[in-house]
Amino acid sequence: MDKVVLATLGCKVNQYETELIREQLEESGFNPVSFGEKAGLYIINTCSVTEKAAQKSIELIKKARNRSSLLVVTGCYAEAEKDRLKKMFPWIDLVVENKEKSNIGNIINGNGKNHQEKETYIGNFNAHNRAFVKVEDGCNQFCTYCIIPYVRGKEIRSRSLSEVLREMENLAEQGFKEIVLTGINLGLYGTDLNPQVKLANLLKKTECLEEKIRIRLSSLEPHLLSVELIDFMAQSSWICPHLHLPLQSGDAEILKRMGRRYTLEEYRRLLRKVREKIPSVAITSDVMVGFPGEEESNFSNTYRFLQEMKFSRLHIFRFSPRKGTRAYSIKPRIEEKVKKERSKLLRDLGNKLSQDFASQFLGKTLTVLAEDQPDTESGLRFGYTENYIPVLFKGKEELKNKLIRIRLTEIKEGKVLGKVEELLQ
Ligand code: SF4
Repeated sequence: MDKVVLATLGCKVNQYETELIREQLEESGFNPVSFGEKAGLYIINTCSVTEKAAQKSIELIKKARNRSSLLVVTGCYAEAEKDRLKKMFPWIDLVVENKEKSNIGNIINGNGKNHQEKETYIGNFNAHNRAFVKVEDGCNQFCTYCIIPYVRGKEIRSRSLSEVLREMENLAEQGFKEIVLTGINLGLYGTDLNPQVKLANLLKKTECLEEKIRIRLSSLEPHLLSVELIDFMAQSSWICPHLHLPLQSGDAEILKRMGRRYTLEEYRRLLRKVREKIPSVAITSDVMVGFPGEEESNFSNTYRFLQEMKFSRLHIFRFSPRKGTRAYSIKPRIEEKVKKERSKLLRDLGNKLSQDFASQFLGKTLTVLAEDQPDTESGLRFGYTENYIPVLFKGKEELKNKLIRIRLTEIKEGKVLGKVEELLQ
């Protein structure tokens, strides 16, 4: 049996797509092995969302050299820098565009048949106990810093309701307890379908799934979060009360320069509405520091806004200029040293906000999905609550991949500890 190594960088959509390729290759007899091993085929699914991700992509490609007889590179970095890649690394055998990515298995197998001609479902997710289901591709929003619409395409491509539901059913039958719905711009799901559907319609349809499974939404653009969706989440017991709503900046001027489609006041009102309807909701967010022209005063505005919004978790990114985007030519650029200092301040704030959020639930019993692996530092078992609080608890190996009712007991050195009360399934 031929061996294959699949390496992925970047977002959940990329991870999902690697799984799709893995499944096609396994079907045709390939055996996935770990990165570094000699294999007949290496596939690197790259990312270019930041300069760091692009650098990591290059490092992986270099490391993969001479480890396989066929090296295939795909993903957003490959798409953005196709010519450069071919020049830098002429020994890459094949660069596959994003729109052909789902067809890689067939290209390798030499039948050239478009994978989307037949419906395919992801049946298994290696190394995760939570499965991702990609429902949409493409983004037409063109935020000024973002390379994604150029490398993923501006046309929205959504999968039909029936196809998505079948894939979810299949994953639930395989024993997955949580599905994360993902897309390049998830909030635009269904806008290209005929008749049009909305993300809220898809969520409502999941009610008919035979196997009960909990569903989490990945990132949603704030201006695309509808009242209908909030209302449905509020009354549903299987949609996790967790929304990831990227803010990017808490300064009105920078937000405008980023080309984001909401004002701070609209964002503030949205969070108020969500919290009124779903009191236990976790709201997580992405923030970018060091956008060109971000002065101390702009940064302070962001800091204060984040404090006010009381996010339960923050992902902090440093701006990195992506060639081809509008922000590439916006000046003045901010020094790396300043960006690092600002990210550190926001990371510290993020940690404090996470603890504040978790402390509201001390003494309460929440449902945790236990991960496969214990926490490496403490050796305790580990899992996330429905509202995305990471919890450590004592328990046997049998608890892994189970939904468990756990009472949150204390926060120690920044970690939330809990006690198992009941095993659900
Ligand atoms: S919404 Fe903006 S940040 Fe998100 S993928 Fe589209 S362009 Fe990029």
